[in-house]
Amino acid sequence: MVLESLTTDAVGSKSHGVQQDKKVDWHSLNPIQVEELLNTSSSTGLSSSEAGERLERYGRNVLTPKQQQSVFIRFLLQFHQPLIYILLIATVVTILLGEYLDSLVIFAVVFINAIIGFIQESKALKAIDALSRSMALRAQVIRDGKRCNIDAQELVPGDVVVIQSGDKFPADLRLTKLRDLKVDESSLTGESVAVEKSVEPVPHDVVLGDRFCLGFSSTVVTYGQGKGIVVATGDSTEIGKIQQSIAGAEELQTPLTIKIKKFSHLLLWVIVGLSAVVFAVGLYRGESAVDMFMVAVALAVGTIPEGLPVAVTIMLALGVSKMAARRAIIRKLVAVETLGSTNVICSDKTGTLTENQMTVQDIFAGNSTYHVTGLGYRPDGEVTAGEEAIVASMNKTLQLCLKAGMLCNDSALKKQEERWIIEGDPTEGALLVSARKAGFMEEQLGKDYQRLDSIPFESEYQYMATLHTNQPNVVFMKGSVEAILERSALYMQPDGTTTTLNKRRILNEVEKMAAKGLRVLGFAMLEVNDNLKNIDHKSVSAGMIFLGLQGMIDPPRQEAIVAVRLCQQAGIDVKMITGDHAVTAATIAGQIGLMGRKENGKLVAITGRELQALNDRELEEAAEDVAVFARVAPDQKLRLVKSLQARGKIVAMTGDGVNDGPALKQANIGIAMGITGTEVAKDAADMVLTDDNFSSIEGAVEEGRGVFDNLTKFIVWTLPTNLGEGLVIIAAVAFGTQLPVQPVQILWINMATAVLLGLMLAFEPKEPDIMSRPPRPANEPILSYELIMRTLLVGTLLLIAAFSLYLYERRVLGASVSEAQTVATTVFVVLESVYLLNCRSLVRPMNEIGYFSNMWVYYGIAAMMVFQVLFIYVPFMNTLFHSSPIGVMSWIRVIGAGAILFTIVSIEKAIRFKVAERKARHS
Ligand code: ADP
Ligand code: MG
Repeated sequence: MVLESLTTDAVGSKSHGVQQDKKVDWHSLNPIQVEELLNTSSSTGLSSSEAGERLERYGRNVLTPKQQQSVFIRFLLQFHQPLIYILLIATVVTILLGEYLDSLVIFAVVFINAIIGFIQESKALKAIDALSRSMALRAQVIRDGKRCNIDAQELVPGDVVVIQSGDKFPADLRLTKLRDLKVDESSLTGESVAVEKSVEPVPHDVVLGDRFCLGFSSTVVTYGQGKGIVVATGDSTEIGKIQQSIAGAEELQTPLTIKIKKFSHLLLWVIVGLSAVVFAVGLYRGESAVDMFMVAVALAVGTIPEGLPVAVTIMLALGVSKMAARRAIIRKLVAVETLGSTNVICSDKTGTLTENQMTVQDIFAGNSTYHVTGLGYRPDGEVTAGEEAIVASMNKTLQLCLKAGMLCNDSALKKQEERWIIEGDPTEGALLVSARKAGFMEEQLGKDYQRLDSIPFESEYQYMATLHTNQPNVVFMKGSVEAILERSALYMQPDGTTTTLNKRRILNEVEKMAAKGLRVLGFAMLEVNDNLKNIDHKSVSAGMIFLGLQGMIDPPRQEAIVAVRLCQQAGIDVKMITGDHAVTAATIAGQIGLMGRKENGKLVAITGRELQALNDRELEEAAEDVAVFARVAPDQKLRLVKSLQARGKIVAMTGDGVNDGPALKQANIGIAMGITGTEVAKDAADMVLTDDNFSSIEGAVEEGRGVFDNLTKFIVWTLPTNLGEGLVIIAAVAFGTQLPVQPVQILWINMATAVLLGLMLAFEPKEPDIMSRPPRPANEPILSYELIMRTLLVGTLLLIAAFSLYLYERRVLGASVSEAQTVATTVFVVLESVYLLNCRSLVRPMNEIGYFSNMWVYYGIAAMMVFQVLFIYVPFMNTLFHSSPIGVMSWIRVIGAGAILFTIVSIEKAIRFKVAERKARHS
């Protein structure tokens, strides 16, 4: 849709699609003019039918993705690999030599390889793209006079949108109303300092960054709230105009793939060098240049593990979908890899480790403590003193404390098919329920005390306040006890009279509730002048009258308790970082089973204020052995992550607020909450939990470890082939025999086995001990000493089997070169198939992991055998690959070699496993 055509349409003309030269400078108009021009009202918004029409006319609010790389270029890039260069040269040389069939085969391989690579890469890209897009942006709009939550793609010009801190602007807005609205526009202007917005028009010629009355699509609200009218959607927005598509394709490279790529490049030079030496030695010995060239090509083709980076990417991408099934959405492919070596998880408490199902249980008001019966959001229950319900005789202070909870509140309690649910913050929902149990109703109370203004809850200030009409007007405030006490001077007694506030006494009551694990909120009020129509932080900074406390339980999630235990067994520390009270946090942490520094048998909780006083070294120490961090502000989260990392930890950290961005970025794995998280947090995160549940983090770690295991298995499986092929060729040159395998045959082996055999390891189920071994150190090389030794062993066995059976066929049985080469090729294929079974576990024998726990391996082997039979017996294949039919006895010898290989590797595994076990037992 085009902005320019909008004005004509909006003012009533039906000239669809007619572009006008006149461009509207929304920032120089006042809100009334904007309303008129767009035919809307900022109080009631558009009607749904009008919105529907406009959606039709202007299209959905999406950015046309900028073409990243054309399909053709991406396909061409598949040829941009050292191996392919070698093969292309080989194609040309074989043409020059008149070996047209060979050139055809080699070129076909190059082409098929490019197609396979292209398809797999596209699949991986698509999978990741789909996942990151599945987290659609939502927007709060006013339509038909009601506030509703819609998919941001359905926004149209004229829609009235409400935004608050943590939100991303879903479209370009002309702001009409705001409170302390600050916006981070760095994604658009590059300016990193947040811009303070205003509703006043500005001159039409000011630059983008100074159009303070506009909010631009994809920029982020860092503070305050606001309301505005949509003036541009989709590609007409400022961000759309500069074509900076934010939904760019994801990076497919990870440290691991880069490491592997570097390794193969290094190997390439070694091999090219080696090939040159072999070539020269051969010439010196008087071999023909053509033969020696083919030897060099065979050597290069056989030894470069070029399929490796692609296989690794595929396996990581597969991990992405496995994690999605466990409700963890990966935004960056690297995360899959890093998750496997995570050794500290720092988690929020409320909603992640706990249910976020709040129920008020204890109330302290007017010198007495009351108990509230009933559980959950069903408003059935009573406020009791001792055993007796006291509704009838409630004293004034208790009444005000409950009223404050109901009025200073933005949530709504609803009944949905016999179930009571909360819309909004559960902490606030619990306060509605407790007030209802005492007989108050929102509707009636809302009439007696009409709301004039409010200061919303922000984690930094830890309180919320609302201004209401009454005789006289009154401010109600609720928040953390510290925040309330700091602003209170007076204390309300049971009869409604006030006296000076004894903070010590209140804190004692708080301690009592917190020790039970209750989340405690304080309440206060202030009678104000009737002229006061607005409030800000300053107008409620002192002199409040303290009303009382409400303590609510938020039970730990049962599955979180299990998940925490699994993490601990897996050598992963779990820490709680919360804005809640220290004693509450420590109590809940104890119930969940966190482990850390203790005093008198109770977990130690360090508060944000205490952290502030520590120097870097002390902080590192505390970060490492304390498990509970309470009343922590977002910037302290960042310091905590850094301290843990300074101690060499790989940190996963959760966050949901606007200010959690830096900590999420700094963490090795930043985890955002899918349900309660802000857009800012999701943007900064590597992973998003769709259910906000701690156990999903544990699940993702488990999958991450599984993926890494299977990757290692694949590498251990594939490298010996390259080694064996290289050794066979070098041996042939050294002993002056013909090549046991020709270049095209090597291509056959490498291509067919990688696709049909190797990738089946990606389906290998997780091993039983996956969560009972320590995390893999991040800097550890992929192949341990043991695995390198095994690679050498298997490579050598391949050499011996292929070379000796080749010689046996030639020298003892007098077979033709082609027959002997076919036998040698079959040796590689069969031994690879058998070794695949060995590689299903790096340490365990088959009977422990289950013979049939991964049927794909058998399907792959069966398919491989069918192809090998075609390779040997179909005349057409004989022509293409220089192969010849072989006899049953040859098959038996090859299979015998396979059995020997399997046995030797099994024994080697058993010995190493025993040794490792003994070592583990001794340490
Ligand atoms: P967390 O999510 O880690 O529990 P928060 O930052 O949400 O921490 O809350 C910190 C404190 O602020 C709570 O312990 C509570 O006392 C207070 N609080 C939480 N939610 C509200 C709210 N909606 N209104 C007022 N105070 C609140
Ligand atoms: Mg919270």
